[in-house]
Amino acid sequence: MYYNISYDIAAMLVIILLAVGMNTVLYTDSPGAKLVRRYIYFVFISAFLDVVTAYTICYGARVNNGLNLVLNTLFQLASVFSIAVAMRTVYNYYPHIDKVNLWINRLLIRFLILFIGINLFTGVLFSFKNGEYIHGPLYLLSYIISFAIVLHGVFIVIKYRADNTKSTMRIMVAFLSIPVVFSLGQIYHGDQLLNAFGEAFAAIILLFSVETPDYRKLMKTMNELEAAKEEANIANKTKSDFLASMSHEIRTPINGILGMDTMILRDCDDPQVVEYAENIRVASNALLSIINDILDLSKIESGRMELVPVKYELFSIMNDCFQMNRMRASEKGLEFVFSNDPNMPAEYYGDEVRIRQILNNIISNGIKYTEEGSVKVSIGYEEDISHADGEDGEYIMLVIAVTDSGIGIKEEDIGKLFESFTRLEESKNRHIEGTGLGLRITQLFVNMMKGSIDVESEYGKGSTFTVKIPQKVVSHKQMGDFSSRLREHIKVAKSKVSVIKAPGKKVLIVDDVKMNILVLKGLLRGTEMEIDSALSGPEAVKMTKEKKYDIILMDHLMPDMDGIEALHKIREDTGNPNRNTPTVALTANAIVGVRAMYLQEGFDDYLSKPVEQNVLLDMIKNILKLDDADNRETEE
Ligand code: ADP
Repeated sequence: MYYNISYDIAAMLVIILLAVGMNTVLYTDSPGAKLVRRYIYFVFISAFLDVVTAYTICYGARVNNGLNLVLNTLFQLASVFSIAVAMRTVYNYYPHIDKVNLWINRLLIRFLILFIGINLFTGVLFSFKNGEYIHGPLYLLSYIISFAIVLHGVFIVIKYRADNTKSTMRIMVAFLSIPVVFSLGQIYHGDQLLNAFGEAFAAIILLFSVETPDYRKLMKTMNELEAAKEEANIANKTKSDFLASMSHEIRTPINGILGMDTMILRDCDDPQVVEYAENIRVASNALLSIINDILDLSKIESGRMELVPVKYELFSIMNDCFQMNRMRASEKGLEFVFSNDPNMPAEYYGDEVRIRQILNNIISNGIKYTEEGSVKVSIGYEEDISHADGEDGEYIMLVIAVTDSGIGIKEEDIGKLFESFTRLEESKNRHIEGTGLGLRITQLFVNMMKGSIDVESEYGKGSTFTVKIPQKVVSHKQMGDFSSRLREHIKVAKSKVSVIKAPGKKVLIVDDVKMNILVLKGLLRGTEMEIDSALSGPEAVKMTKEKKYDIILMDHLMPDMDGIEALHKIREDTGNPNRNTPTVALTANAIVGVRAMYLQEGFDDYLSKPVEQNVLLDMIKNILKLDDADNRETEE
């Protein structure tokens, strides 16, 4: 009988390569790697003995029967040991295997070894007669037991799959089944020695499961990253909550300062004091805008910021931004120019407040970082954009460009512009106020609106910031030229400075902070209204039972009984003469969605602190339905 030993030779070469690899580049002393190494050595020995026995069997006539028997027995034992090590390698990945299964495995292996031992004396598996190899009656049994061991292994891998990853499970199943396929091939073609080759092939697959030092380092780093991410999330949430409550706490006293300051500015004639008061106003407003920026950023970053789309006129946004910045531009002697495409649509549906904030941020930066020359704002549009969400309606792309002739930005710094709290050339720009938050917030808002922001700049010469935002068009009315509309607008506005008069109308102000009451009283001075005040919810409830008011201004956050509770008490008491009196909530925490909340609680409207006189008077005018005949519109 002649055997094809080329598969064994190939297996040995593969094993040599694996052994070299595992002892050099892939070297690791993890228990898994040690077992793999031991496994390939046994596979090598059994492949070698397979070749030797193939040779001695072929030349059986010249080889002693006893020697042939011993060599073949050694070969069989080497094969069993390689199976045993293979199973231990697999079980190493599944630490929770129960004792019974381990015991079954050991029993089957010992049984196989016992059989090979018994065969030496009985020839039940194989024997030699006159140099010829003879199969014994139980020849197939050794194969069957080997297959049973492997099948049991596959069963364990599947049963304990929760102990390890899915990919490890797949590797283990492939590792166990491939040698079986080759063994079946060998049973079918007795002269093709395929067993060792199957085992070498399986060893290559097993390599994918070996933890190299790099792999372990990677896993460790990944675990650390996961833990750090978790911690960062918690810290970020704590930070956002802290900022939200801090900003509320800071805004309340600033409101007081701004309110009192408004009264000084209005009532004082001493120019020196007015100048001090003006400085207080500027500083307080700057502080307020920093607080607002921090609050915005923390809300956007924690995903709690929502866009609030409304119908708006682009002219009004441009006008606001023009008015807010023109003083500072003219103080610096800058040319401040607004232009637009007069054919563009006039009305849109989008988040007016945030678009104003975006525009205002880049315009105020332009002015801040320009010492001489100009800041030019131009607004145009691109037609026919297909809107990503597939929403109904016609969309255009608003294109806002702000060009300044200021300090410019170095090319390498452009990437840093949009980082939070990052200011460029800090030492050079120390005298320019700023926090490094404006552009970050601008970019986040632009992203929320699915728009884009680009910067082109030449260091020392100036920059152009271009923002593109898709906006839904509400009407096709053309906007017209901004400058001519502005002239018209100023003429009308100048002729109308509204001062309301409501003699005899009774108002109740409820606030636990005395200074806030003083501020509101100050703002209402001149309206000739009758003003009462209460310093707590229960006091307000008591007062409303005794006197009928025309309007109630109620602070929300008060100790003991808050504004909402007090309002409910008033509304629910059928005997209370004020159960239907229009009531306005006062809040220092004007966040998105707050209006809907107050309306739902039964308020008629809300005012955010610091209360602006015009807004307050307009609201009172609307609520009391004062027509213009009751009110003078002073000609200036
Ligand atoms: P800041 O409050 O510092 O102005 P921003 O986020 O608005 O914060 O801007 C970040 C930085 O980008 C600024 O500190 C400034 O260095 C740079 N920068 C912004 N706008 C301009 C501009 N128009 N020209 C030059 N540099 C600018």
